[in-house]
Amino acid sequence: MPLLGCIADDFTGATDLASMLVRNGMRTVQVIGVPDGPLPEADAVVVALKSRTIPPAEAVAQSLAACEALLAAGARQVLHKYCSTFDSTDAGNIGPVAEALLDRLQGSVAIACPAFPTNGRTVFQGHLFVGQALLSESGMQDHPLTPMTDPNLVRVLARQSAGSVGLLPFAVVEAGEAAIRRELARLSEWGKRLVVADAVTDAHLVALGAACAQHPLITGGSGIAMGLPANFRRAGLLEERADAGALPAAAGACAVVAGSCSRATLGQLGFARGEVPTLELDALATPDAAALVAQATAWMEDKLSDARPVVIAGSAAPERVQALQARLGREAAGALVEEAMAGIAEALVARGVRRLLVAGGETSGAVVQRLGVRSLRIGAEIDPGVPWCWTDAQGGMRLALKSGNFGGRDMFVRAFEHG
Ligand code: ADP
Repeated sequence: MPLLGCIADDFTGATDLASMLVRNGMRTVQVIGVPDGPLPEADAVVVALKSRTIPPAEAVAQSLAACEALLAAGARQVLHKYCSTFDSTDAGNIGPVAEALLDRLQGSVAIACPAFPTNGRTVFQGHLFVGQALLSESGMQDHPLTPMTDPNLVRVLARQSAGSVGLLPFAVVEAGEAAIRRELARLSEWGKRLVVADAVTDAHLVALGAACAQHPLITGGSGIAMGLPANFRRAGLLEERADAGALPAAAGACAVVAGSCSRATLGQLGFARGEVPTLELDALATPDAAALVAQATAWMEDKLSDARPVVIAGSAAPERVQALQARLGREAAGALVEEAMAGIAEALVARGVRRLLVAGGETSGAVVQRLGVRSLRIGAEIDPGVPWCWTDAQGGMRLALKSGNFGGRDMFVRAFEHG
C-alpha cells in the first residue's frame, strides 16, 4: 500500500521526483500513464503523465483518474508534481489540476512550491528565481510551449485558477513549521485555496513538508518531496530503510541506445567510441527505420557481452540533423530515428540484453512503449537525475532513461559498473 501517491505532468519530471523519494528512504515505483491495473508494492507511487501542455480539461481528467487509482491503492497523501520552472500558460495546467485535486481530496488549502535550491530554483516573496535571474529573464521567457514572462507566481497561478491564491512569505517559512502551520490556517480562513510558498534553502523545504504533514494535497517541484518521507517515519508508518533503491540483479548483456543529439550525449558518445564497441548509424545516408535496424542487428550479433556495453546511436551533429530534417521534415526525421532506436532496443533485448541505457527523452518514450514497460521500480542514481530502474517487462530487466543533457562524459561506460 503506498503512503504517498504522486502525479507528475511529464516523464523525466516523474523520474526526478522518484529519485528524490528513493534518496530519502522510500521504495518508489514510477507508473507510466494512468494506472489500469493493481499498483506495484511500494512506499510511494509516481504516476507519470504527459499532461504539461495538453488542453486543461484533459489534464484535469487524467490527473483525477490517476488520483482515483492512487486513493484506491491506499495512498494517504497526494503530491502534484510540476516543473521547478513552473512551466504552464494562463490556461493551465498547474492551477486547474491543483484545484480539481484539492476538491477531490476535500482539502481546504494546498501549497504550491516549485523551489529546488540544489538546482538553483528558489522562491522569494512569491517570485521564482533560476540561479540569480528572475524566471522571466532566465531564458524561460522564450520557451516554445510554455513561455514564462511573469516571475510572480501568485499572479501566474491566479490567472490559471478559479479560486483565490495566497502567499506564504519568506519570514513565515524562515520562522519554521509551527509558524507555517498557523499562517496556512489563517490564509485558509480567508478563503485562499492555493498558496505559493517561499523557499530559498533545503531547510525551508523540510519545514514546509513537516508543516503540511496532514494536508491531503501538496503541489510543487521534486524539491518539496524532500521533507515528506520524514512525516511518514514520525507517524510510525515508514521504516528506516537504507536499501530503498535496491533492485533485483539483472544477469545478461549490456547496451546503450542513443537517439539524443544533445551536447552531453554527443560527448558521451565521443568517450564511448574509444572504450567499447560503438556503432553510429547514418540516418541521412539510410533514411529507412527498418534498414537501420537491420544494420544494427547484423553489427551486434558477435559483440554483446555481460562485461561491457555495446553502444548504438542514431545521434548526429546539428548540421546532419538539420539536413535530414530539411529532407523529411522535422517531425518525420525525429519519428524515423525514434522508430529505428525502438526497433534496435527490441532486437538487443531479444538477444539477451538485460541492462539497457537509453539516451534521449523522446527516444526513451519510444523504447519504453516498444518494450511494453508499464512501470519502473526506481534504484540508485548513476548520475544526478538518472537512476537505474527495474521493469518486469521482457521477463525482468534494468533500464536507465537519460534525458538529453544529463550525465557525465563517461556515463555510457561507467553506468554498467553500478548496474
Ligand atoms: P533529448 O533528450 O536530447 O532532447 P530526444 O530523444 O528527446 O533527446 O530527442 C531527440 C530527437 O532527435 C528524437 O526525436 C530523435 O529521433 C531525433 N534524432 C536523433 N538522431 C537524429 C538524426 N540523426 N537526424 C534527425 N533527427 C534525429
